[in-house]
Amino acid sequence: MFTGRTARLVVSNEGEKPLELTVEPWADTHRVLPKETCVVVTHSPAEDGAGDDAWCGTSHGDEPFEVEHRPDAVTIWANGHCFHLSDREGTAIHANAYGAGCPAGDPAT
Ligand SMILES: [Zn+2]
Repeated sequence: MFTGRTARLVVSNEGEKPLELTVEPWADTHRVLPKETCVVVTHSPAEDGAGDDAWCGTSHGDEPFEVEHRPDAVTIWANGHCFHLSDREGTAIHANAYGAGCPAGDPAT
């Protein structure tokens, strides 16, 4: 059983045009269509109580994500060890997890 942390960030495109969603530091780009919702998930192997070291991508505490927004694009920095993209129902948009190994293993199991 996965005892680390999971963080989820829900991105909805409420605009009229496709939104370009980039997940860094993997530079993976996905297009979120109007009225579409995409969920970005990142995992950390750190257990509760690990404090500021829980999210390796940031030197600040408790920041699993950072969002940079531009008019037609948004960049999500996932500060965990991996990221996964799915829709609201949990169906994976990408078949594979990214990053140097997901501490949660296969999230589908
Ligand atoms: Zn993961």
